[in-house]
Amino acid sequence: MRNPSWQRDELLLACALVVQNGWKELRENDLQVMDLSDLLQVLPLHPVETRSVKFRSTGSVSRKTTDLATAHPSHQGPPTRGGRLDKEVVAAFIARPEEMLAAAERIRNVAVNGPFQLPAEPPDPDDEAAPEGRLLARLHHARERDPKLRARKIKSVLAAGGSLRCEVCDFSFAETYGSLGDGYIEVHHTLPLHVSGETTTSLDDLALLCSNCHRMCHRSASPEEPWRTPTALRALLTN
Ligand SMILES: [Zn+2]
Ligand SMILES: [Zn+2]
Repeated sequence: MRNPSWQRDELLLACALVVQNGWKELRENDLQVMDLSDLLQVLPLHPVETRSVKFRSTGSVSRKTTDLATAHPSHQGPPTRGGRLDKEVVAAFIARPEEMLAAAERIRNVAVNGPFQLPAEPPDPDDEAAPEGRLLARLHHARERDPKLRARKIKSVLAAGGSLRCEVCDFSFAETYGSLGDGYIEVHHTLPLHVSGETTTSLDDLALLCSNCHRMCHRSASPEEPWRTPTALRALLTN
């Protein structure tokens, strides 16, 4: 039985070890490898029935650190068997080391401190591709859908004389869809969860967006590129 392939979240955690080890592989008997092996076995990323007894064993974690270390462009000699996703994660760590290390740290905290408050919904392809990994992306979306936060943001915009329009493209659901769209807008948190931490959200960190612009803010076009802020998306749209 083959074990399920490594997901981005898992690769982030493994790559963080490689980075902290000076882009060198870690051996099977390394305490950090043992620790990561334990952690990966409790992450809710792969159904138990898809795992063999060797799932994320210390040996497989060590081999993955070799794949990642040899995927670094400065590595002499041929890379090992790592796939496309390995290369993407390595590229992201090279482009934005601080941010990616912070993301790995957040995933670790979420995993250790559980319980997982992930909404029971099918995986979103955009979350799978999120640079910060699926767990943090899903937590982030759950946070954005918090009805209290949403209500407070909308209230503050209306109180300041504004209307419910997309801050990027000016789209208004009410103008396009009539009474069906009345009061509808999506709330976007401009700081990724691993950057903001779990501190209380300031209303200034929230942006009102239409569904298209919201998707485009979260979409990752390449591993080197961080999240797009609404301001950056607006600049892209007007060019
Ligand atoms: Zn928009
Ligand atoms: Zn968002």
